[in-house]
Amino acid sequence: MRLLVVEDEEDLVDALRVGLVRAGYAVDVAHDVAQAREKLRVDSYDLVLLDLNLPGGDGSEVCRALRGTDQGQAVRIIMVTARDRLDEGADDYLVKPFAFPELLARVRALLRREQGGGTAILRVGSLRLDTSRVESHSNGRELGLTPKEFGVLHYLMARPGHVVSAEELLEHVWDEHTDPFTNTVRVTVGNLRRKLGTDAVIETVVSKGYRLREDT
Ligand code: CA
Repeated sequence: MRLLVVEDEEDLVDALRVGLVRAGYAVDVAHDVAQAREKLRVDSYDLVLLDLNLPGGDGSEVCRALRGTDQGQAVRIIMVTARDRLDEGADDYLVKPFAFPELLARVRALLRREQGGGTAILRVGSLRLDTSRVESHSNGRELGLTPKEFGVLHYLMARPGHVVSAEELLEHVWDEHTDPFTNTVRVTVGNLRRKLGTDAVIETVVSKGYRLREDT
């Protein structure tokens, strides 16, 4: 899952980035309205954390502009605000100052809604993924995944039986600093297969991408 943090306070940006990456998300940052618009135009995000008071304008402008696009209909938006109200177009809001665990809980709740399920735990066959605790098991065995391996497995487990392209994984699990021509997806899937103990769980669909078998 890929998040965009739109925030101009550097200390807060650093804290959010560290916490969210540790929780298994890919995180990009925009510091003002212009940067936010540019990133939202170029990349697709699963969730945007949007500060209301920004250099060069207001977060609610970004929110309205985003909702006016096709991509912007599906993205989840959490507004970070000094006042206690939900802006039109946002899915949720947080009042500054907030505690990081509270933010993380809201992020997870919204992204679970996005996946159409109400639970933090995903199960496919013998695989079990706890997205709150960032734990992954296969037949009860802890897999010990890196954040990217966890992110890939999470993305595939949310779509069992569906073919997911390498580009889609790159877009949702990696951040903007990744070279689009890198073989990092292939390498990560390879490592993930090794940790799963079998190649058969994640199938390669030639020239299309990867598919998680539903009967693993
Ligand atoms: Ca601000």
